[in-house]
Amino acid sequence: KLFNELQELKGNIRVYCRIRPFIPGQKEKQSIVERIGESDLVVANPSKQGKEALKTFKFNKIFGPTSTQAEVYDDIQDFIRSVLDGFNVCIFAYGQTGSGKTYTMSGPNGATNESLGVNYRALNDLFNISSSRQSSIVYDIGVQIIEIYNEQVRDLLTTDISVKKFGILNHSQPNGLAVPDASMHPVKSTADVIKLMDIGLKNRAKGSTAMNERSSRSHSVVSIHVRGADKKSGSTLQGNLHLIDLAGSERIDRSEVIGDRLKEAQHINKSLSALGDVIFSLSQKSSHIPYRNSKLTQILQSSLGGHAKTLMLVQINSDVKSYSESLSTLKFAERVS
Ligand code: ADP
Ligand code: MG
Repeated sequence: KLFNELQELKGNIRVYCRIRPFIPGQKEKQSIVERIGESDLVVANPSKQGKEALKTFKFNKIFGPTSTQAEVYDDIQDFIRSVLDGFNVCIFAYGQTGSGKTYTMSGPNGATNESLGVNYRALNDLFNISSSRQSSIVYDIGVQIIEIYNEQVRDLLTTDISVKKFGILNHSQPNGLAVPDASMHPVKSTADVIKLMDIGLKNRAKGSTAMNERSSRSHSVVSIHVRGADKKSGSTLQGNLHLIDLAGSERIDRSEVIGDRLKEAQHINKSLSALGDVIFSLSQKSSHIPYRNSKLTQILQSSLGGHAKTLMLVQINSDVKSYSESLSTLKFAERVS
C-alpha cells in the first residue's frame, strides 16, 4: 500500500541506470564514468578536458559495475508485487548492443542462481506471493512470448513459427490481451516458465543465421497475465507484467548499410523513438499519447499510462569508444524521466 502511495507521488515512470562491468576480452578498459552518486551519474567526454568534459544525468537509481543481479532486483520487486494487486507493469531494458540488456533481464548463458536475471526473479516472486495468498485469493497465471522484428509480430511459443499477421486489439478492453492470437500458456511454477522461455529462446534463434545478431535487432516481449479471484467475494482482478528486452539502440551509419540491414535499422529507430515519444508524453501528462506509431507501443498501450507502472532500465557500456552511443542512451533516458 505504501508503495502504491509513493508511486502516486512520484508518477508512474521510473528510470534506473545500470553500468555494466568491463568483461574479459574487452580491449578498451577506460571508462567514461566520472562519478556515480545515489541518483546522479557524471560522465566525461574523452575528447574534452576538465570541467568542459563533464555531463550529469539524473536517475531514480544508479547501479554501478559491481552491482549484483540481486541488488538490481531488490529495487524492482515492488513493481512485481503490484501486478498481483491488479496493476499493469512494463519493464524495459534499453541500450546499445553489448550494454547488458539481456544480462539484466535473463542473465548470462547458463546462469547460476546468483546471476539469474529479472525475468526469473520476477516469476519466482509472483508464484511465491500468489501461493502465500492462497487462502484468500486464487490466481491464474498465463504467459505469452512474442518477438517484434521489422514491425512484424511473431509468436515464439508455437511450433509454427512463421510470421503471421497478428491482430492487435486496441485499448477498448484495458485488461484484455493485446495480442489475442499469440498462444497463451498457463503456468503453475517457475519451472514451467523457464521451460517456456527456453522454447522462446530457441525459436527466436530459428530462421536466422546468427542468433545474437538477430536478437539484437528485435524486441522480445514476455507477457505474464495474472488473474486473481477473491474466494469470499468472488470479485476478480487482473494484472499484466511485460518484460521487454529491446532491440539495440545503436545508430546505424546510413552510408554503410543497405538493403535488409537498412530496413531493420529504420524499423528499430522508428519503434524506439515511438516508445520514447509515448513515455515522454505520459510524463508530460499530455492529452494525446502517440501509441499508434509502432507495433511495440500499440501492443503495450493498455500497460503504458493510466494506472500502469513503467520501469526503464537504461544500460551503459562505459568504455570510451562507446561514448557517443552512451550519450545518446543517456539523452533518451533524460527525456523519458
Ligand atoms: P545486450 O543484450 O545489451 O546486447 P548482453 O546482455 O548480451 O548485452 O551483455 C554483453 C556481454 O556483457 C555479455 O557477455 C554479458 O554476459 C556481459 N555482461 C553484461 N552485463 C553484465 C554484468 N552486469 N556483469 C557481468 N557481465 C555482464
Ligand atoms: Mg541482448
